[in-house]
Amino acid sequence: LVGSDGSIHPTIFAEMSALAARTGAINLGQGFPDEDGPAEVLEAARSAIAHGVNQYPPGRGIPDLLAAIAEHQQRFYGQRLDPERNVLVTAGATEALAAALLALVAGPDDEVVVFEPYYDSYAAVAALAGARLVTVPLPWPSFQPDVEQLRAAVTGRTRVILVNDPHNPTGAVFSAEVRDEIVRLAERHDAVIVTDEVYEHLVFQERHVPIATLPGAWERTLSISSGGKTFSTTGWKIGWITGPADLVDAVLAVKQFLTYVNGSPFQPAIATGLRLGDAFFHGIADALRGKRDRLGQGLRAAGFEVSAPAGSYFTVADAAPLGATDAAAFCRTLPERAGVVAIPLTAFATPARRSEYATLVRFAACKRIEVLEEAASRLASLA
Ligand code: PMP
Ligand code: GLN
Repeated sequence: LVGSDGSIHPTIFAEMSALAARTGAINLGQGFPDEDGPAEVLEAARSAIAHGVNQYPPGRGIPDLLAAIAEHQQRFYGQRLDPERNVLVTAGATEALAAALLALVAGPDDEVVVFEPYYDSYAAVAALAGARLVTVPLPWPSFQPDVEQLRAAVTGRTRVILVNDPHNPTGAVFSAEVRDEIVRLAERHDAVIVTDEVYEHLVFQERHVPIATLPGAWERTLSISSGGKTFSTTGWKIGWITGPADLVDAVLAVKQFLTYVNGSPFQPAIATGLRLGDAFFHGIADALRGKRDRLGQGLRAAGFEVSAPAGSYFTVADAAPLGATDAAAFCRTLPERAGVVAIPLTAFATPARRSEYATLVRFAACKRIEVLEEAASRLASLA
């Protein structure tokens, strides 16, 4: 059976959300917001349903959403995309990732380079595509890869360099040096860069820089994003992929046979969201920065050592100062001990590297401030 080698297993998110439901603990495990996004976006979906946007949309996506994605890429990143050729709507970033790897990877001689720890679907879809996974570690606490290790990982066998920036689970934003090196290596070894940028608007310092906008990158890069995080609509599963027409067409060829199309009434709603004013986009980053700070403060007060995430929903904390030696065991008992659910970083690592992340725990900051405060006061009982 597929996955009998352990590569396809029940996801950690399902397991940890079930643990939260069973114990009534505050769920800082799975990353999803506990408040609705902008009213205009929700209303646009209701209106689309009321106005009969309920049948199969076109295969690439509803033209208005394709146009809104192209406008968004121009407005934020100065890219000039042809909405009919350079854009494809997918069932969340998850389908875009799967369709891209299935389209690009020909078999076990092809390697996919990923940064570890990684979002769990990367290893699973690489396995489904039959590729060999090669990982580059992101060391605590900076979570920036060592450039020499990156160079050693990318070879003539590399078909795809899969990048996630801002990064889940660590909250890291890659340095300009690392981004430039990724492009140089992809050019040298004729690899395709697939970038997962679902947290593009959730950065706390500088503005997000898509790898596709760097010199030499466009023609070999597929960029993925999603409305889920930006508009707090993680259940709608509207994502997209942008890139050169030949690569996007290859992804579309696969996507047709995965979901064919998806979410017709949600597509115009996400188009509405992408066209919201700058105040909305600044507002979501500012709000999440405040939540990250409140969570970090609570974790430090409880005795954890805490990383400094530059983006994403997540903060990583070291439980070693609290006496933990195994983050997975620590997370299993955390609901009982403190009424909080979190995720061990080992869930995002290959078995060979789990020891490097043995005492690290991921906490989601994308919750209401009062929920983070309650979590902080519960965690204080650990100190
Ligand atoms: N990539 C990363 C890094 C994520 O954190 C998530 C959300 N959990 C996804 C992809 C999946 O996004 P979507 O819900 O749009 O499929
Ligand atoms: N992206 C979210 C996380 O990392 C949830 C993903 C999921 O449930 N598949 O927690």
